[in-house]
Amino acid sequence: MKKSFAYLVANLLALPLFCSSVLAGSLEYWKFDLQDSRLDIITDDNVRPQVQLLANPTRLVIDLPNIYHRGPTLEKAISSYVKMVRVGQVNRATTRIVVELNEAYSMRPWEVEMRGLAPNRWVAQLPKFLMMSEYTPPTEPVAIAVPEPAPRPIKQFTVIIDPGHGGQDPGAIGLGGQQEKDIVLSISLAVAKELEKQGIGVVLTRANDTFISLKGRVERAEAVNATIFVSIHANSMGMGRAEINGLETYHYSSGYGLAKSIHRSVLRRIDVADRGIRRARFYVLRKSSMPSTLVEVGFVTGEKDNRNLANPRYRQRMAEAIAAGIIDYLR
Ligand code: ZN
Repeated sequence: MKKSFAYLVANLLALPLFCSSVLAGSLEYWKFDLQDSRLDIITDDNVRPQVQLLANPTRLVIDLPNIYHRGPTLEKAISSYVKMVRVGQVNRATTRIVVELNEAYSMRPWEVEMRGLAPNRWVAQLPKFLMMSEYTPPTEPVAIAVPEPAPRPIKQFTVIIDPGHGGQDPGAIGLGGQQEKDIVLSISLAVAKELEKQGIGVVLTRANDTFISLKGRVERAEAVNATIFVSIHANSMGMGRAEINGLETYHYSSGYGLAKSIHRSVLRRIDVADRGIRRARFYVLRKSSMPSTLVEVGFVTGEKDNRNLANPRYRQRMAEAIAAGIIDYLR
């Protein structure tokens, strides 16, 4: 997203080195179009705004739950009708945008149209402004209806699921002799099943205990013209490092959004340590032409992860969380 507005840029420049949680989204862009009386909002994560009309002065209050506004509260004067638009953080978890009219003007709450273009893009269409003598808003806040965006069809996508290793290549060997190739195959098969339930086309690079070269995996993805590539692995720190556990999600060039969506989804649903979203030059990430990511679901050498990954119920939940992240991304 190109941030072309000076005030937005200035705001970003004022940003201290502040690392918000990967679990929350942030306000990426907003713009009030004076000509159309229209406010556009884009966030980097899905959001469902809550909108109210308040009186004295008449103002539209748009709350964005689980969205961070980085930096200080921002006030922008707009026109003689719209006194200002204010953007700030109302509490730790909610960004608030206020469109405040000049005291002489008002608008009818039922004429305000708040609609979603996509789960992260929203438009508030303001009606014709009235004089206070024509219409006086009630003193109690009035909730504004919010039409949801039409769901994007996701059936036309093809997702490559790539279980690491296989055959003579066991991958990492964990505590108690647990092998990476077996863990990642069972998780991958379950991810495929979850995606197919939603009507998404899935191609597995292997569906059993066979060896496929890295080149063969990428060629498979290219041959079916896959939309995205998701490689599933389990990590290793070497024996004697049982305290190292956690999820790592890798991307190279175009896979950051996909990696972030899966990483967040897993952290939201599963009790696993967060070892971050990382950039790495893995072959399957470098050589595939579509957005691609490599998920290290946990450490087979870690005491906690190894125990969890041996549990079929945990693998199933991990698969559901990965699939949900993929679906979020595709939508
Ligand atoms: Zn591996």
